[in-house]
Amino acid sequence: MKSLTDLIFDNRFARLGDGFSTQVLPEPIAEPRLVVASSAAMALLDLDPSEAESAVFAEVFSGHKLWSDAEPRAMVYSGHQFGSYNPRLGDGRGLLLGEVLNDAGEHWDLHLKGAGQTPYSRMGDGRAVLRSSIREFLASEHLHALGMPTSRALCVTGSSTPVWREQQESAAMVLRLAPSHVRFGHFEYFYYTQQHELLKQLGEHVLSCHFPACLTQAEPYQAMFREVLERNAQLIAYWQAYGFCHGVMNSDNMSILGITFDYGPYAFLDDFDANFICNHSDDSGRYAFSNQVPIAQWNLAALGQALTPLVSVEVLRELLGLFLPLYQAHYRDLMRQRLGWLTADDGDDTLIQRLLQLMQSGAVDYTRFFRELGASTAPQALARLREDFSDLAGFDAWAADYRTRSARDGDDQDARQARMHAVNPKYILRNYLAQQAIEAAEQGDYAPVRELHAVLSRPFDEQPGQERFAQRPPDWGKHLAISCSS
Ligand code: AMP
Ligand code: MG
Repeated sequence: MKSLTDLIFDNRFARLGDGFSTQVLPEPIAEPRLVVASSAAMALLDLDPSEAESAVFAEVFSGHKLWSDAEPRAMVYSGHQFGSYNPRLGDGRGLLLGEVLNDAGEHWDLHLKGAGQTPYSRMGDGRAVLRSSIREFLASEHLHALGMPTSRALCVTGSSTPVWREQQESAAMVLRLAPSHVRFGHFEYFYYTQQHELLKQLGEHVLSCHFPACLTQAEPYQAMFREVLERNAQLIAYWQAYGFCHGVMNSDNMSILGITFDYGPYAFLDDFDANFICNHSDDSGRYAFSNQVPIAQWNLAALGQALTPLVSVEVLRELLGLFLPLYQAHYRDLMRQRLGWLTADDGDDTLIQRLLQLMQSGAVDYTRFFRELGASTAPQALARLREDFSDLAGFDAWAADYRTRSARDGDDQDARQARMHAVNPKYILRNYLAQQAIEAAEQGDYAPVRELHAVLSRPFDEQPGQERFAQRPPDWGKHLAISCSS
């Protein structure tokens, strides 16, 4: 176990030089205080969990202190925002502090979000508010606990520094961890500025640091695109299977590693609604829940365009055609598990679609449905769940088919429950739960956010005494408008 001062840095991205990032020092926030830390994320850096209690921990992660071996840099990238190309984005309020090499030989980017202005801040103040920092922290660690690919979060540090959004709020910083912060938009930047040598250098960096297996292929860049595409197909399958809505799937928020990245106005579905729009600013519903699948493919096409100097258009087109079948295969697998099926059957897609259609017209809590479906025998569970559906005849027909289908995979209820509870969370990060914890934290009480983090870190466990976190949202918590402003 290490202390903060023991960390070893190996700053590979910084070494790419000034064409890729600019050296910027963090601008500290006043009276820093630890809001919440993740011991699981600390373990990725081999950090002793008690380090979080030290005064220096809050100082480092609020920009007051820095390791001498860190090389803080703001990265340049561009990207398509809501379908339109923005030629210059970049780290406007976050800094890549450096890359830590852990005992297992892994590199972890330390990215401090809310660290002040950079050359890429445009009109922004370079800050992040406490509210959005807590939201990013909770989601990062929760999605990981759910088994979903995601960036991680080490801690949130609060402060007394005022920040103006729709109203006055306070500045905070969240320390994000990921093996890489390279986004689709990084490639787009070098493509559209016609810096094709740097584009190639970025590709070489990604290949050698993150996809070394692709280097052994005849066409490494082609293999890289395929890898990115496969990972994103799997990622979107997780989002759709677990009811996660990202909210701002701009190509600068898409990770080259296929991890959930740049949390903003995200939400998990409460009642199932394929048309759900979690981002209050998304008037056209471009990033509505069911649109996430075509939008991911659209973003991959944008990445493909940026790779045209390295890979032929014909090959890129062909690879893009793999996205949907790959996505569908992953999605089908996840949904089969959620429904308790051990084997695959040709009729599964239809049964899954019929269920979602019935949910759409009813008032069915998406998370609770699957948990309850596994909690008792199929007939008992279905009899109870029936109440939430409005098309009762349709539900009865589906339930009969579900029972027949499920009987094929064995009737042992204990085994069925064990495998279903292992994939169907009891606890999910509902917006209203985050909101309650945020409101307490804004009053200086960090106990609720720490407790919520602890509960959501074990989403599949029963956790007696914590059942209130597994309830459906109260009326006020059903349609919270979450804006991009963060
Ligand atoms: P996001 O919507 O958080 O993905 O950010 C889109 C772009 O705006 C990125 O280049 C961010 O760095 C930048 N940005 C967002 N908020 C701020 C802010 N408060 N100050 C400076 N830049 C920001
Ligand atoms: Mg972003």
